[in-house]
Amino acid sequence: SGKFFVGGNWKCHLVSCFLISPCILKQYTQNGTKESISKLVSDLNIATLESDVDVVVSPPFVYIDQVKNSLTDRIDVAAQNCWIGKGGAFTGEISVEQLKDIGCKWVVLGHSERRHVIGEDDQFIGKKAAYALSQGVGVIACIGELLEEREAGKTFDVCFQQLKAYAGNDYQLSILWCADAVSSWDNIVIAYEPVWAIGTGKVASPEQAQEVHAAVRDWLSKNVSADVASKTRIIYGGSVNGANSAELAKKEDIDGFLVGGASLKGPEFATIINSVT
Ligand code: 13P
Repeated sequence: SGKFFVGGNWKCHLVSCFLISPCILKQYTQNGTKESISKLVSDLNIATLESDVDVVVSPPFVYIDQVKNSLTDRIDVAAQNCWIGKGGAFTGEISVEQLKDIGCKWVVLGHSERRHVIGEDDQFIGKKAAYALSQGVGVIACIGELLEEREAGKTFDVCFQQLKAYAGNDYQLSILWCADAVSSWDNIVIAYEPVWAIGTGKVASPEQAQEVHAAVRDWLSKNVSADVASKTRIIYGGSVNGANSAELAKKEDIDGFLVGGASLKGPEFATIINSVT
């Protein structure tokens, strides 16, 4: 449904480099540098990408401007987070208005690392999404269950609860300067990222991913509208790489990917983008 959508989430680390010596291939992760960003951007600028795919990358905040100024217009730029409402006296935060000012069209929200490492909850994330959308910035809205939740048979419950917070049916909070709920679904992409698959090398099988994507679409149909359900892109994230993306992309309800580690390697990220079927 909708145009295939592939996001590269660069997180807080940057380009993986390979050191090749006569008998070992060793991979290490460079700390973020302007040079490593330049290399990744130039690899992306020369890559041949299928035209019928929306492509977005999300660098760390401090490099967004550098990326915007050097990356081909073919690829949009997303932020990895934003403040919940209008900017002001909120030390250390970045507002949606500021993101727009530097040309970000998208923001990733509700990523599992922000939920489970930083401690953001459903309502807080839902409010952020509503505010970003109200300002015309698209939202890559992440959802996904922990391993113990999957093992306890709670995958759908967890994902639906997270979706409900984006849909705005669940607000207890009343913060006047925040938007209330997602009012338009035109600019939202849902990223299903099972937490047990993120950064672990344990990709969900195409069947496991398809099962949840279909359930998400069904939830949208019942709780938002059939039209939104058919148009909304539902992308998969969690250990996607150049070797597994084509099989996943064949599944009916997988409309693209949100890629972590493999998006730090330009040629492999291009392979994933080009796995559109
Ligand atoms: P990996 O592709 O490194 O598993 O990360 C997925 C992710 O969290 C994308 O947002």
